[in-house]
Amino acid sequence: MFDNYASVLGLGNFSPIYKSRLREDVKLKKKIGKFLKEIRQETKQEICYYCGNEFTSLCNSHSIPAFVLRNIAENGEVLTLNAFIDNPILKTDKGVNNSGTFNLICRNCDSKIFSEYENPENYIDPPTQKMLAQIALKNNLLAISKRMFEINLYEKAEKELALPSEFRQLKNDINAMDLNEYIENYKKAKKSLEKNSTSDYYLCYYEKLNYVVPIAFQGAIALISDFEGNIINNIYNMSPKYKIKYINICVFPLKNETAIFMFIENGDNRYRKFYRQFNKLDKDDKLQALTYIIFSYSEEVYFSKQIQSDIFSNEKLKKISRNTSEILSTNPFVKPLLVATDTYDLSGRKFVPNILSKKYKIHTTKE
Ligand SMILES: [Zn+2]
Repeated sequence: MFDNYASVLGLGNFSPIYKSRLREDVKLKKKIGKFLKEIRQETKQEICYYCGNEFTSLCNSHSIPAFVLRNIAENGEVLTLNAFIDNPILKTDKGVNNSGTFNLICRNCDSKIFSEYENPENYIDPPTQKMLAQIALKNNLLAISKRMFEINLYEKAEKELALPSEFRQLKNDINAMDLNEYIENYKKAKKSLEKNSTSDYYLCYYEKLNYVVPIAFQGAIALISDFEGNIINNIYNMSPKYKIKYINICVFPLKNETAIFMFIENGDNRYRKFYRQFNKLDKDDKLQALTYIIFSYSEEVYFSKQIQSDIFSNEKLKKISRNTSEILSTNPFVKPLLVATDTYDLSGRKFVPNILSKKYKIHTTKE
């Protein structure tokens, strides 16, 4: 997560003074850009993570299918979450081709292993098991790629930016643990696809909206607590035996509609209470809860430039889109899990604009 590396680079608090310094100090900005680019180079793989063949050329895999982004893009561009966070080293406008990409697999695999779910024709009905497995596969690949990047980041920051080695160790112990879990989940998804399983994932929510929403999202999220405050994931439990469990969420704007769904690994009991509570909410409240969850837990969300611009100055949205960095700057004298459940308290959804509701719908571009 960039909040994590932003904190390494002194951006964690997003203080206005540091921000304006960065804006003016072109040299510093370039230096940070170069530093991050070098880490991307070092993180590059020689062989395809999926098939094991050597790379012949670089392949940019999209975290969200390009067809989905095109449905909300204007002149080929979408906005990133930085439209809220306003971090001077990150870009706010992004071309569809560069949005949320990772480079772990070869072109051949990229064109095959996601093909069912990346086909707009397949959204007439609810997603199939195969599509869910492909989405899980990709969510885990993206997470693996991010963790590999972060591990290199902290190592480089120790060597070149005098980051205390204890801090690097602490961060990378957690990163290594996370990485192993993502690899395990990736293997499960791969196996599910190979054996054409029809029961590995459970679709716990599916809705087709008859309008186009102004945001696109795909990601795996580790919810901390449910609607009644029960803990789902204790993110501070450092025992290697304790597994973090993820819920996959997709918001896919189509040509004239939007497909929204959530799914988990089948048999994953930890989310049962959550999705039962969720499914009891009325339609609008569900959409509001999803908006809240996406903004507060993830940065892989993209916006249409048609979105009503007052959204970007909404203080509540700004605040929750910075949740990760707040958790990092937790006061050590307060129980961190309590702070986390409070920060991510789902009742906070009532105070955010319901971006997925009809009120915010956009008109699709004429392509
Ligand atoms: Zn391959």
